[in-house]
Amino acid sequence: MKNLSGKNALITGSTSGIGRAIAKELARNGVNIFLNGIESIQEVTPIIEEMSIVSSASVNYIRADLSCVEDITRLCESVGEIDILINNAGIQHVDFIENFPVKQWERILALNLSAAFYTTRALISPMKRKGWGRIINIASVHGLVASAQKSAYVAAKHGLIGLTKSVALENAGNGVTCNALCPGWVLTPLVQKQIDAKMQTQNISLEQATHDLLFEKQPSLQFVRPEDFGQWVVFLCTTAADQMTGSAINIDGGWLAR
Ligand code: NAD
Repeated sequence: MKNLSGKNALITGSTSGIGRAIAKELARNGVNIFLNGIESIQEVTPIIEEMSIVSSASVNYIRADLSCVEDITRLCESVGEIDILINNAGIQHVDFIENFPVKQWERILALNLSAAFYTTRALISPMKRKGWGRIINIASVHGLVASAQKSAYVAAKHGLIGLTKSVALENAGNGVTCNALCPGWVLTPLVQKQIDAKMQTQNISLEQATHDLLFEKQPSLQFVRPEDFGQWVVFLCTTAADQMTGSAINIDGGWLAR
């Protein structure tokens, strides 16, 4: 087990859901944390406090809209040298392609794909110089297979897995690994919105909508827990994962098995 104490991590989109759980687990392991999101510092203060309780390492928050290149540049300049980069921030929009709002396409591509290019480009050099670094892209099963009405999300997540492989190859053997985690359904605000939409459009109960969502794709009929991704990230930082690079790891209750 590598001692992560004193390392620095940037987790994009870490005020909620999967990113927040990853940040908390890294903080518990003594990693100095840079949280990011689009919320005000007042809204994020309870999250900073929650992480500070489990850790003596530092927890800072930088508000930046990662669909905007200027904000990404400011964020990367503010964090300094990073050892663990988690590209997690992401959004969803569900619609048939002929109705898909162009602005949503552009925003999803910018946030779910291009932001990872910009952060990796800006932050990888010190990792290479030090001979150790971890870049972990939170992709999706939708980086490996498609679903209808998710053209932008599926395109961006497939692209993110391609980016992961390319960065992995460029850095093979130099101590910097790049992998993608590919969640199935995880019950976070991003998914709750899709359950709420099902309830409304089909006029069904919360229980029915939740069951239908899982039944359609996830054979376990259980959500993946956000905390599980914290443990995956810590595993990818161990020496056991030194030779693991360019992987797309699906954690999906059996989604891709059928
Ligand atoms: P979430 O909605 O709970 O959290 C999203 C986070 O992204 C928040 O911290 C929010 O502040 C941040 N964010 C949103 N817009 C931003 C912007 N413009 N700039 C910077 N930050 C922004 O989402 P989640 O479900 O935890 O998803 C996290 C990642 O996991 C996403 O990339 C998502 O695509 C991926 N994912 C989620 C699921 C799932 O079932 N929840 C499944 C597969 C993949």
